[in-house]
Amino acid sequence: MIKTNTNNIKDNYCHLHLHTTFSFQDGLGLPKQYIQRCKEIGQPAIAITDHGNISGHFKWYEECLKNDIKPILGCEFYITPDRNDTKSKRYHMTILVKNSEGYRNLLQLVTESWKEENFYRKPLTTIEDIIKLQKGLIVLSGCSSSKVFKALESINSQAAEEELKFLNSNIDDFYVEIMPMSYDPAKKFIAPLYNLTKKLNIPLVATMDCHYVTKDQSIYQEILLCIQTNDQMNNPKRWKFDQTDFYLKTRKEMEQSFKKIVPELNFTEAFDNTIKIAEMIDFKFPTASPISFSISEKEKKEKLYEMCISGMKEKEFVGKEVYEKRMKYEFDLIVKKKFLDYFLIFTDLVHWAKSNNILVGPARGSSAGSLVCYLLRITEVDPIIHGLMFERFIDINREDLPDIDVDFEDRKRPEVKKYLEKKYGKNKVGQLATFSTFKGKSIISDFSRIYGLPYVVGTKLKSIIIERSGGDSRTSFTIEDTFEQFDLAKEYLQTYPFLAYAKRFEGQLRNMSSHASGIIVANEPLTNFCAIYQQRGSTVISLDYEDANKLGFVKLDILGLNTLTSVAKALDLIKKRTGKEIDIYNLPLDDPKIYEGFKNSKKLFGIFQFDGQSVNQVCREIAPETFEELSAINALSRPGPMHGLDTELNEPITTVYIARKQGKIPWKTAHKLLEPITKDTQGVIIYQEQVMRTMREVGNMSWKDTAQIRKLISRSMGVERFNDFKIKFSIGAKKKGLTDLEINNIWSAMCTFGSWAFNKSHSVSYSIISYWTMWLKIYYPIEYYAAMTSTMLNENKIRNLNKINLREDYKLYYININKSKKSLSIDGKNLRLGFTQIKSIGELVAEKIVTNQPYKNIDDFEKRAKIGKRAINLLSKMGAFDSIGGTTIVIRTLFGDEIKNKYENKITFEEKLKICTLAVNFNIIEKWKDFLKKNIKWKISKIEQVNPKNGTETIMGIVYDKNLKDKIEEALTRGKIPPPIKNGQSKYCNFILEDDADFIIVRISPQNFQRLN
Ligand SMILES: [Zn+2]
Ligand SMILES: [Zn+2]
Repeated sequence: MIKTNTNNIKDNYCHLHLHTTFSFQDGLGLPKQYIQRCKEIGQPAIAITDHGNISGHFKWYEECLKNDIKPILGCEFYITPDRNDTKSKRYHMTILVKNSEGYRNLLQLVTESWKEENFYRKPLTTIEDIIKLQKGLIVLSGCSSSKVFKALESINSQAAEEELKFLNSNIDDFYVEIMPMSYDPAKKFIAPLYNLTKKLNIPLVATMDCHYVTKDQSIYQEILLCIQTNDQMNNPKRWKFDQTDFYLKTRKEMEQSFKKIVPELNFTEAFDNTIKIAEMIDFKFPTASPISFSISEKEKKEKLYEMCISGMKEKEFVGKEVYEKRMKYEFDLIVKKKFLDYFLIFTDLVHWAKSNNILVGPARGSSAGSLVCYLLRITEVDPIIHGLMFERFIDINREDLPDIDVDFEDRKRPEVKKYLEKKYGKNKVGQLATFSTFKGKSIISDFSRIYGLPYVVGTKLKSIIIERSGGDSRTSFTIEDTFEQFDLAKEYLQTYPFLAYAKRFEGQLRNMSSHASGIIVANEPLTNFCAIYQQRGSTVISLDYEDANKLGFVKLDILGLNTLTSVAKALDLIKKRTGKEIDIYNLPLDDPKIYEGFKNSKKLFGIFQFDGQSVNQVCREIAPETFEELSAINALSRPGPMHGLDTELNEPITTVYIARKQGKIPWKTAHKLLEPITKDTQGVIIYQEQVMRTMREVGNMSWKDTAQIRKLISRSMGVERFNDFKIKFSIGAKKKGLTDLEINNIWSAMCTFGSWAFNKSHSVSYSIISYWTMWLKIYYPIEYYAAMTSTMLNENKIRNLNKINLREDYKLYYININKSKKSLSIDGKNLRLGFTQIKSIGELVAEKIVTNQPYKNIDDFEKRAKIGKRAINLLSKMGAFDSIGGTTIVIRTLFGDEIKNKYENKITFEEKLKICTLAVNFNIIEKWKDFLKKNIKWKISKIEQVNPKNGTETIMGIVYDKNLKDKIEEALTRGKIPPPIKNGQSKYCNFILEDDADFIIVRISPQNFQRLN
């Protein structure tokens, strides 16, 4: 039993009715904010009773224990008098957990209330259900929205008395809540409620309907409600609370509040009862035992070992010392750390997917560093060949499960989840919740709306708000820091003082939704640990990733990747056309034709992770010839290495790498010990694994320190934290004979390089997918185009891919009522648009058209396809019927035959664009003909004819994608104070210039940018 701590009780009262940020836009205060305050005022226990959900429970529980405060878990339920009448008036009721049995009952009540049939705008419960499941629960009558109080307010004390009698005789642990309500008419009914309880001899508890932590926060609750109801702050009629003191009061403050309203009544018992209730509670949060297979440890070990050995044989690694040694090392560690079940679950899952025609990514993240994963075919990356580290995957010093992240074809993720449910039991598999928070920019948007801020101010402000990643210690202070660091923000703050409120919302919760990839699998039914919410057809549990981890659940990351869907579709199309079954996992990674593709910057569009502008530029300059270089490009085209300076050479790391690759500057490392570590990366450190090796091999550091440093790097926690390890590093390096100067050089290189360093396991794994897409593009371009365009979600990308497709001389045939298929299809050597490419024509209509093909004429079509007039109209506009005589019919009249068009088929360019983006030809010159004629006096040369060696030429094209960046912008988005610019030197500009036939990437160097600006 968790005892109430009697040593430091300063305040003999505790709150039993309280809303946190988990009441979503109806409560302000994270668990730690409330509990901090509770500790300050010295109350021994504190309850959490959010509206309709219990998602805050575990965090509350944990935070309370950390602070030596007794946690009380509960929920404020919405009670409906009649489940069948969705419009019947709801009431509020507060329920607290007394013991473990009560907790399971509470979980059941919450789960029931979220079932689709019980949910109407809110999760609904009935009093009958509560009575049935009351064991181990303490029931409080509720706030001013309780049934009792509503009866009193409608001057029906008879009904109120009956309700109280009913509850008191049917519920074992029943208390009447009494709150210091100071507004009219509620305050008039405090005394009648008090007197009724005395008459009926029901115990009272004094509660406050807390919605925020401190006295001054009432305005934040108002703002939250305004955001929630999408109202305006200057609307006098907007919904807000009638009272402004719903904060965490001390007993004294509570007593004073009552005294002001009902001085004649004595509430001593009502206060003392809160402590009595707290003491009654005997509850410990249930923890899960990780899922395990029902065979003995010995059998598990044998099974996994057998699979590893057969992998060794299959891959012909037997007898090769490095592989045998590595396998033994990894396997022993997996056994020692008791990860057997985890590996067995994943092996089973990935094997099932692979044998059920679901494409699985080669690997993702650190698991690529494991040979065992490769042998088990969880991953398809050989860690030895690629020099990947196992220690990046399993932290030798920690017991928690490693993270095997797996990408599946996006479209088939639901199948994967279904398989898990079938295998382990539907009630044992659940989707984790995720909570979105209020963030800098979105808060400014909210404020702009509710306060009617001028548009320009809102946009400008949003553009300067600092952005920070989740790992940053000041993630929830971006608004505060922006207002402190930027003059423009300071000015706005003076003109619009209410903006000062904005910072308080950062980090508070906005919404709950299901975690796209996080699934837990338990040994027992999930409702023993958490509630299950049904939300728009899907289910989500009341725990998030972090909670599940701490409670001991096994989490599986079932990630979806759209590119895998494209690749799988292309493989299907290839099989259909050629009969060939391609073993994509085992493509040789040294095909020179593929590297020719990567060297040609025009081939990069639509290539996984290679179609961005900066990566295009880096790739062109490095001109990759090996897989190692492909992976390096992936790491080198990120902002860190592209702009972060090498301290010695004073050039960005990426530039140094390129210069060495091109032989322009010599190879040099700070010490010869770094040579083997950086031999494959031009003497530059670009991967986290290299940082780890340097720490180990140069600094002689322990795995424990190395693991910590690695974590600091990957969360970009800043150089300061990193520097704590310098002494250890120096001691180790000195033993290896390095001089102080050398140590300093290596260390400072590590601090700059290290903070940009990328996870090599991930870089290699994802570069394999890049390689796959290039392979498809080179060998099966038409299948590749068809698959890509039908999977891509971004319209711009689709249109661009289509441009490339046309430039490479592939045609895109238009919609043809007899030749088109449901979606984009291959027609001879080219592609043909499908019916679903037309907006508002869905799968069903397309299906109908296709099954009844071919059609003789429009009459025939109307008769047999049986689709709506609107759809025919759209088809007609897109020219679908042109091949069967269009939509005209001949009408015989008194004066002879008259030809009439049954459907509208005139269409403008813009309309066409709206109906079917892909159907629009890429034709710049055509579109700009008049403009060019009028404005350009000289001869225009085409981009494809440009020869850089010929000196100046006049090119005509349109600027398609510009990318204006300077250091200030870079610094802003990384959440740092911008460095002063020297002579405007760091400004530059990149853009893509294109015409019908071709495109080029133009880079204006800092010098020229300055000159031309
Ligand atoms: Zn309420
Ligand atoms: Zn409440």
